[in-house]
This record gives sequence, structure tokens and C-alpha cells, in this order.
Amino acid sequence: MARTPLLAGNWKMNMDHLEATHLVQKLAWTLGDAQHDFNRVEVAVFPPFTDIRSVQTLVDSDELKIAYGAQDVSAQDNGAFTGDISVSMLTKLGCSYVIVGHSERRQYHGETDTEVGAKAAKALAAGIVPVICCGEALEVREAGKHVEHVLGQIDAMFSGWEADAVGRVVVAYEPIWAIGTGKVATPADAQEVCGAIRARISERFGAGAAESIRVLYGGSAKPGNIKELMAQRDIDGALVGGASLKPEDFAAMAEYQKM
Ligand code: PEP
Repeated sequence: MARTPLLAGNWKMNMDHLEATHLVQKLAWTLGDAQHDFNRVEVAVFPPFTDIRSVQTLVDSDELKIAYGAQDVSAQDNGAFTGDISVSMLTKLGCSYVIVGHSERRQYHGETDTEVGAKAAKALAAGIVPVICCGEALEVREAGKHVEHVLGQIDAMFSGWEADAVGRVVVAYEPIWAIGTGKVATPADAQEVCGAIRARISERFGAGAAESIRVLYGGSAKPGNIKELMAQRDIDGALVGGASLKPEDFAAMAEYQKM
């Protein structure tokens, strides 16, 4: 089964709703000029919560093919969870995707694999595809334990899941030492872990789930390295931070097949 590559732009805590509208407009124009084929490479943006309504209005009114999602979601349905946002709120805003378990959420908000797995399951049950992040810190890589560490995260996050559900999600392997640092993992390093993730999914959930799950690489991906990363067998796209704030760069990355 062919997996459609996904280029996902994580804006983090950047861009207010007016800036968001401009950024999506510029991205749409640039992709339009390049005659981007969204059936060949999907493009999604992940603005802050406060921007999503504006992005939805623009995407709907201009019939854009750019998908969008949120950067986090609660595992709870509703109630006394101050500051949290529910899956049904995101569904109403037309989100197709949601990032869960980004290393910055784990670092600054103490999110655990179990919580991340619960958020992902909640989103998927409501029809929103979770982009589930994992990845090791520098000390773990230097100790040569990166594959073991990431597979431990995968096992914990998918504990109790059914194969059919696992096959419908996106996993983003993001070595923490490569996020926002300019230090990109080599294509071979990225492939090593992305391949190990797919092999583990196959072992635990079967070949069907492993064939259909999309595995992205994230960490200082940019126009200059995307082509080589995407040439790796088990890399189905990229989760992009910094470069997704520059529409020309992000659009160029979406066009990696023409490089
Ligand atoms: C990210 O935030 O997920 C990320 C990969 O950031 P950057 O591309 O800036 O390293």
C-alpha cells in the first residue's frame, strides 16, 4: 500500500491570528505557483489554538487543499480542565490532525507516554489523525541507547491499541538534540530509528499496520536536506518547525520530488 508523504509545519508559539492568515495565504500562493500536487505530497500546518478559527475560515472560503491541525489536545472529554482544549472543539474547527507528545510538551508540561497515548487514542476516535512524537535526548544517543529508548516510547504509547487504529496514525521521530538546533540527524541515523519503529509496529500489530502507518522525521529539516531524508525507505514525511514559518522554504520542501 502506498503511503502519501506528509509535510507538517509545527508553528509552535509563533504567529497571531492575523499573521497566521498571511502565512497560509502566502503558502497557498507559493504552492499554487509551483503547481503543487496535494495528492502526491500532503501539506499541513499546525498553528497555535488562537489562530485555528482564522485558518479554517481562509481554507474554507478559498477552498485550499492545505490541511491544518492543533499542537496539542486534552485526553478528557470536557469539564474542569482549565486551559485545556478538547477533541470535539478541534473537530468543530475542521482540524484533520493534532500533534501529541511533542518533546516541548514533555519537557515543559511533564507529559508522559501514557498520557500521550491517551490523547492520541481520543483524537483518532473522533476522526482526527494524531501526529505522535517520540525521540531521544542527546545523552541517550551518546550512550547508544536511542533505538531502545524510542521503541520503549512506542510500546508505552500504543499499549492496549488495536492494529487497525495503529495503522491510521502518524508517528514523528524527532531526536530532541536536532530540534531547533540546526543539527540534523543524518539520513542514515533518521532511517535507522524510523525503520526500527516500523519493524516494531509490524512485530506487535502486524504487517498491515506497519505498511500503512506513516513515520515522519523531525529536527532541523529544511529545503537543503529534505530530499535526502525523503529518499529513506521508512521516512514518509517531515515534521518541520523553523522552516515552516517561511512559506518559500516550506513550499520548496513540499516540492522535494522535483529537486
Ligand atoms: C519541531 O518543532 O518539531 C521541529 C522539528 O523543529 P525544527 O524543524 O525547528 O528543528
